[in-house]
Amino acid sequence: MSPPQAPGLQQPFAARRRLFVELMSWMIGLGLVAGLVFPPFVVLLGVPESLAYKPSFYAACLGAGLTVGALNFLIACRVVRPRVKKLSQGMRNFRMALLEEEGQASMLGRGSERYHVPVDSADELGKAADAFNRLIDALVRARRTEDAVRDFSQTLASQLDLAPLCREALSVMLARSGAVGGALFVLQEGELQCAAAYGLSHAEDLARRSDLRKALTDLKARQVDSPVDVLLTGGPQVNPRELLLLPVESKGEPLGILVLASLTPFTPEIFRLLDFFRQSLKLALQNALSHERLGRIAAMDALTGCYNRRMGMERLGEEFSRARRGGEPLGLVMFDIDHFKPVNDTWGHLAGDRILVQTARTVQRVLREGDVLVRYGGEEFLILLPGTALPDVEQVAERVRQAVARMDITEEGPERITVSIGAGTTASLDEESPDALLHRVDEALYRAKAEGRNRVVLAGMEPVS
Ligand code: GH3
Ligand code: MG
Ligand code: MG
Repeated sequence: MSPPQAPGLQQPFAARRRLFVELMSWMIGLGLVAGLVFPPFVVLLGVPESLAYKPSFYAACLGAGLTVGALNFLIACRVVRPRVKKLSQGMRNFRMALLEEEGQASMLGRGSERYHVPVDSADELGKAADAFNRLIDALVRARRTEDAVRDFSQTLASQLDLAPLCREALSVMLARSGAVGGALFVLQEGELQCAAAYGLSHAEDLARRSDLRKALTDLKARQVDSPVDVLLTGGPQVNPRELLLLPVESKGEPLGILVLASLTPFTPEIFRLLDFFRQSLKLALQNALSHERLGRIAAMDALTGCYNRRMGMERLGEEFSRARRGGEPLGLVMFDIDHFKPVNDTWGHLAGDRILVQTARTVQRVLREGDVLVRYGGEEFLILLPGTALPDVEQVAERVRQAVARMDITEEGPERITVSIGAGTTASLDEESPDALLHRVDEALYRAKAEGRNRVVLAGMEPVS
């Protein structure tokens, strides 16, 4: 049994003709014919037949024809064969390199020139050698592109979080395209957000460009020559020579747009490479966006749209650690709707739900950015107030109490509702835990209920025993 051959190494054709043997037969054959016709030819020129047809003369003519034919063949071999051999050897070497280094970048890293064959004539052989050299250049370029796209896809595939994914994608695209600046915008909830930017001054302003908006609508890439309104950072006022707008879409819907700024025009080759990257980026963006959407769904309370208890507790832990690291206080407010059960009993559960939503919205409106509203359970809410000391926590709690008490119930339900509030702040960051703080504030809320409801009670600084 013959050993198995590596794929692609089998004899690719079964040609039996041997061109050099054919050439030899023709040349020697012609030499012999010339030797045969030479005696009659010299008779025609007047040489006596007795001399021309002499066996020895015939033999000499045949010998001369044979020798000339053989010499012709040898000369042809000497001139043509080494070149053809070099060409076929070059092809073999390159093919072996392609097969052996499948999936490795080393061959490509060393460049395609080492597989070039010499082009030393202007005829068909020279043209064949030149065509071969161009062919391997094109093949190496294609392999390089393939490797770059694979690396890019692998890098992005391992990243599910949108912000780092966009930063990574942008930096690879900048490096591969030779662009000096760029930005990646992502459409989230209908808003175009600048998810990553580099080297551009006020990159987020690019989102307002009309050509960028148009590219997002018709999903066609655009090259903008000398955009005077785009400035590069890191030096005196420099405009890029060209701006490339590459929308990223999925099934006809825009996901975002990539902007690249370059000091030299983008070549068709770079354009092609970026088009491949765009496909990989599309998949990665889709994954990250749906991951983020799922994360948001898992973190949010479906009824009120605030953080749910699980996420709220996670945030409490995080904010607590941050407060401890920064040596800043963390304020905590807990409130519960007063006499909510009778609301449900009188106007129904749906009316109760609507009041819950309205209450959450009203409270959200009186909070600052950075404060976190959490539905702790039923009709009980928590507010995390990072960096807020007790006097301010009390003020926020009072603002919440008044806002709810003044709220007009928009749909069927009681005329007014009120909330009871417990409020506190981290006492000693070294000793306290998020649970202990929660416990103290819960206790204050209990006291607010006991003392008559619709009021704010501050948690004592001493841990509740
Ligand atoms: P108070 O807090 O002032 O002591 O009285 P309360 O009537 O509010 O008492 P409690 O906190 O024990 O009752 C909570 C009620 O909230 C019970 C339940 O019917 C209602 N509730 C809890 N979650 C929901 C919800 O998601 N939707 C609606 N409609 N009602 C809810
Ligand atoms: Mg209640
Ligand atoms: Mg309750």
